Amino acid sequence: MTETLTPVAAATLCGDGRCDVALHDGFTLCATHTSQLARDLAAVREVWANLQVTIRRQDATSSAIGGGSTGSRPCINLDALDKGETLASLLNGWAGSLALDYRQRPAAGAAKFLSDHLRLIVKEDWAGDLAQELAESLAECRRTTDRALEILSLGVCGFGDCPGAVTAVVGGHTGRCRECGAVWNVAERQQWAISQAWHAEGSLRLIVSALRASQQITTSYETVKKWAQRGKLYGTCDVATREHRYTAAGILESVRTATTNRARLNA
Ligand SMILES: [Zn+2]
Ligand SMILES: [Zn+2]
Repeated sequence: MTETLTPVAAATLCGDGRCDVALHDGFTLCATHTSQLARDLAAVREVWANLQVTIRRQDATSSAIGGGSTGSRPCINLDALDKGETLASLLNGWAGSLALDYRQRPAAGAAKFLSDHLRLIVKEDWAGDLAQELAESLAECRRTTDRALEILSLGVCGFGDCPGAVTAVVGGHTGRCRECGAVWNVAERQQWAISQAWHAEGSLRLIVSALRASQQITTSYETVKKWAQRGKLYGTCDVATREHRYTAAGILESVRTATTNRARLNA
C-alpha cells in the first residue's frame, strides 16, 4: 500500500471558482476577484435603485388602468421584487456571518457594510461564495430591470480600452459599463457621441431629438422644422429617398444664429 504524501501547507486557490490563482497569507480571494467583488458591492446601490423603479413602474401601470391593488393584474412587479429580496437577503446573510451583532438593513446598506469590511472578508473561507452569489444575483436583477425598463445604449465604454457596452435606464443620469463597471454621465456620453458624428447626416427629427436628449439644445423639433421650411437651415437632399438630411453641426449653427438674433432684437 502506498501512502500519499501531503504537503504541510498547500497554497490555497482563489475561492471565486472561476480562477486558479494560488494565494498566501490566509487570503481566500485573488487581487483580481477582490476588486471585482468591490465593484459588485459598489454597484448594488444603483442596481437596487433601478429595481425599485421597475417595481413601482408596474404599480403605476396597474393603477392607471384602474386595476389598483384589487385588480387582476399584480399591483407590483413580482419578478423584480423577488430578485430584489434575493439580493438583499444574500448580502444580509453574509454580513451576518461576519459580525454576530449585525442587524438586517436594506441591500445598499448591507453592501456598504460588506465593502467597509472587505479586508476581513478576503480572509474568510466564504469570500468566494459571496463573490459568486453576488455576481449572479446582480446579473439577475439587471436582466429583470432590462426587461421592464427602456434601456438606452451609450456605445462602447472605451475606459482603458474596455470593449464593454455602456447602457442606462431611460431617464437616469448615469449609465454603467456591463464589462468593467465604469459609471458614465449620460448627457456627457451623448454629447461625445454627437461630437463623433458631427457631420454625419440624418433626418431632421433624428438629429434634433439626439441634440435635445443630450441637452445641447432645448429648441423644439417644430421650431427647427419651421427654420428649415423658411430656408434658414439647409439640408442636403438624398436622391435615393428624396428626403432632406441634416447635420448636428448645421442645426446647432441655426440655434446659435436664432439666439443671437433674439438677443439683438431684445437689446
Ligand atoms: Zn481569482
Ligand atoms: Zn468598461
